[in-house]
Amino acid sequence: MSNCIYCNSSNAPGGSCHKSPTKYHVKHDQGKCSFCGSTNAPGGSCHRSPTKYHVVMVPGKCSYCGSTNAPGGSCHRSPSKSHVHGVFQ
Ligand SMILES: [Zn+2]
Ligand SMILES: [Zn+2]
Ligand SMILES: [Zn+2]
Repeated sequence: MSNCIYCNSSNAPGGSCHKSPTKYHVKHDQGKCSFCGSTNAPGGSCHRSPTKYHVVMVPGKCSYCGSTNAPGGSCHRSPSKSHVHGVFQ
């Protein structure tokens, strides 16, 4: 388990955070949505994420859409419009 990237709290992602631009704790825990802590697949509807979709770090998959395509390919879920593997900013 990691801590919130904005306030270093160990509380679950999605809880109220006064340091975060989204107002909620954000954590980069592998296999869990960084914004809400759900273990759902990346790309599903998320109420806490600025992109409105779960963003989940899964080895070998795009964190935004769950595709196994190479990083940099066209992605409908990523704010940069490209697949991103691993930690995002
Ligand atoms: Zn926080
Ligand atoms: Zn989520
Ligand atoms: Zn993608």
